[in-house]
Amino acid sequence: MSQRRTYYFDNNATTRVAPEVVAAMSPCFTELWGNPSSAYGFGSQVAKLLEEAREKTAALLNADPREIVFTSCGTESNNTAFHSALVTQPGKRHVVTTAVEHSANIKFGAYLQKRGYEVTFLPVEADGSLDLHVLEQSIRPDTALVSAMWANNETGVLFPVEEIAAICHGKGTLFHTDAVQTPGKLKLDVQATDVDYLSLSAHKLHAPKGVGLLYVKRRAPYHPFVIGGGQERGRRGGTENTAFIVAFGRAAELAMATLHDEDTRVRALRDKLERGLLAAIPNSIRNGAREPRLPNTSNLAFDGIEAEAALLMLDQIGVCVSSGSACTTGSLEPSHVLTAMGVNAKRAQGSLRFSLGIYNTEEEVDYLLKNLPPLFAKLRAMSPHDPEHPKKTARVHRAKHDAAGEAVKG
Ligand SMILES: *Cc1c(COP(=O)(O)O)cnc(C)c1O
Repeated sequence: MSQRRTYYFDNNATTRVAPEVVAAMSPCFTELWGNPSSAYGFGSQVAKLLEEAREKTAALLNADPREIVFTSCGTESNNTAFHSALVTQPGKRHVVTTAVEHSANIKFGAYLQKRGYEVTFLPVEADGSLDLHVLEQSIRPDTALVSAMWANNETGVLFPVEEIAAICHGKGTLFHTDAVQTPGKLKLDVQATDVDYLSLSAHKLHAPKGVGLLYVKRRAPYHPFVIGGGQERGRRGGTENTAFIVAFGRAAELAMATLHDEDTRVRALRDKLERGLLAAIPNSIRNGAREPRLPNTSNLAFDGIEAEAALLMLDQIGVCVSSGSACTTGSLEPSHVLTAMGVNAKRAQGSLRFSLGIYNTEEEVDYLLKNLPPLFAKLRAMSPHDPEHPKKTARVHRAKHDAAGEAVKG
């Protein structure tokens, strides 16, 4: 493995597991590895850890621990909310979501359409915001669920979930929010926002990949999505991923403790990076509203740049960022989020997402500010849009796919 230093600016895709989190989960592999459902003391010790983690994740949301259902990931949490709302209200066959959701919602919506349900994908404005009047108009008597994300993973743009919840409840409709990008970045309070369901994923807050949760408001209708044993009080079958759930609990505590740092220091670093790049790189512009936005995310479009080619060059200098396009089927598919905002395909394909976190330093931001402008100038000089080299784009793209297989973005 190379010893090259990594400049990690892709915290919306996943985050480093915090050392405190590793320490908290380690005993679950070495000593406390029993099955929490077992009747003997060796099992109930583990059950106790599980319940402590439930209390800690509930505290992050200002929820009751009994309202927390642990799942395998954010995707499962989102799918479970849709499934619950539809299975428990069989007369209602319509759901509303937005065109800029994570693929967990977009693809599940498409699956529901194939199964004969009606799904409305709400459009967004050019700055990524929702027109709440349009949202309200889209809700019908047979609407089982409205699902709108709290914070967009590509642009960081925030939706006003408190207002959306009020609109839904005024119309007698359940409301789910994908809040996967919010912990440690925004203050969360399900009492104040009054959502019925809310999804989180541990690996976006410095815990391991492969564990998530669904908050289910007391008395909100619920039906398990994973059916099996009586785990999670009958709400999610499958032996609990105890080590990772314990990790999730510790990470929830840290997210509350680092909220201030993220909102002040990380926000200032993000702003310095964004301002610096926009000033130093001609024909560059931000995608999405400046505010309200997550304090860590900056999505920038660079005219005449092929983001996929930029990623390869950034990788050479140790910089990890994400492109505005999701490579899916071997063609350069522009980001569905930027497309929904009316960004044309060329600009979307020249967009990069920088997402910071608590481990980023000013020195790292300065490294990007020093190295990116000349690198982008070089890329433009050998532009893939150069009519003399029409095949270049496809070649770069194929090479990336050969190396990495199919890319999936967080
Ligand atoms: C990462 C992410 C997800 C998916 O979470 P997984 O645990 O990877 O399934 C869902 N929604 C948003 C907004 C995300 O950023």
